[in-house]
Amino acid sequence: MHEGSIAAAIVQGALEALEKEGLSSARSLTVLIGRLHSVVPDLLQSHFRLMKKEHPALRRSRLIIETAPVRIACRACGHETEIEKPEFACSSCGSTQIDVTGGREMHLKEITGNEAKRKQ
Ligand SMILES: [Zn+2]
Repeated sequence: MHEGSIAAAIVQGALEALEKEGLSSARSLTVLIGRLHSVVPDLLQSHFRLMKKEHPALRRSRLIIETAPVRIACRACGHETEIEKPEFACSSCGSTQIDVTGGREMHLKEITGNEAKRKQ
């Protein structure tokens, strides 16, 4: 599905992060992806495995996928709830007047790697 484009975005973000952090190659990439994206981790991993081969700086890196739960905030009482199923109702007062406050995240949370050799 859309795992291919997510993997491409991760690769792009990782290359930018390496540059910014002054690293020559990555050891691990931790990405945080909200449940609402319905990402299949295995699919994302296989896309990433294929794509990283094109980038020497990422070739030996490992992708760690963390998922963020879907969170909602009640407009009636302000209570925040993490939901497992798509039942968008406040767990405190039962109101369905809620705002979705979590589950749409998608970002590179952490990158570790080897420092670039500095020129003397
Ligand atoms: Zn409520």
